[in-house]
Amino acid sequence: MVQSVKLIWLDGKLIPWEDANVHILTHTLHYGLGVFEGIRCYKTHDNRSAIFRLSEHVHRLFDSATICFMTIPYSADEISNAILETLKANEMQEGYIRPLVFIGDEAMGLHPQKNPIRVGIITWPWGAYLGEDGLTKGIRAKISSIARHHVNVSMTKAKICGNYVNSILAKLEVTRAGYDEAIMLDTDGYVSEASGENIFIVTHDLIRTTPLTSVLAGITRNSIITIARKMGYTIIEERFSRDEVYTCDEAFLSGTAAEITPIREVDDRPVGNGRPGPITKRLQEAFFDVVKGKDKQFESWLTYL
Ligand SMILES: *Cc1c(COP(=O)(O)O)cnc(C)c1O
Repeated sequence: MVQSVKLIWLDGKLIPWEDANVHILTHTLHYGLGVFEGIRCYKTHDNRSAIFRLSEHVHRLFDSATICFMTIPYSADEISNAILETLKANEMQEGYIRPLVFIGDEAMGLHPQKNPIRVGIITWPWGAYLGEDGLTKGIRAKISSIARHHVNVSMTKAKICGNYVNSILAKLEVTRAGYDEAIMLDTDGYVSEASGENIFIVTHDLIRTTPLTSVLAGITRNSIITIARKMGYTIIEERFSRDEVYTCDEAFLSGTAAEITPIREVDDRPVGNGRPGPITKRLQEAFFDVVKGKDKQFESWLTYL
């Protein structure tokens, strides 16, 4: 269950958590057209708090809205300030931040022209998305029978509420079969991404991640590419097939929620020796140094509270 906090920002005001309710005719609830973000705030090594890549997340929220013909009734600065205000009001030193842009009630049907565009910002404490054990020991993944959206079918670059039916079906399918996370193939059969994370594999010291074609352009994915190159690794964006995941030396997932989570098994085949590999561990360590403000090279990615 989500651990509640005191206040939620809804349509410009901070209101008590328990009062942040919407009408049953809320358009997004019926048809899924809404957009959201997932952002993390970390307690830094010097006991301050910093939001990781706030401006990139807010920018992507506005891009998602543009893709969906939704006009957010606030500026990017107003949303950024509201996020800071909500964390401070809840006295949160670290946690997860969920901005949600949704269509309110008025007309029903598939032509929500005059319905209000509403915005909520919810914050709550959230530990490792795939569990502490997942973060340290790695997870067991399975390729789902559900394909990732085709670019002609849905907008894969936007975090659109309705897109996640596809992800949830994949995740439910594999978790019901006893695995931790679903890896999805694109409609051509190549590896795409996990239900809510991008995927990386390492083969003979070469790090690869899938190109942006059918996947969400993860900000963690971008951070890892940047950090890994600074560390001197060769990292490329290239399509690969599921059997390349079976034979790679290391594999891991990336996302704001999942951070860097090693994959220790795919479709009942151990990845490498079945434990998180050395490159994965080095990248994980480097990533946590960055988000906790220990690495001054990436100071510009942090917004201190
Ligand atoms: C949010 C998300 C990711 C990860 O993106 P980040 O910006 O790293 O959090 C990857 N894939 C999907 C489908 C997502 O929804």
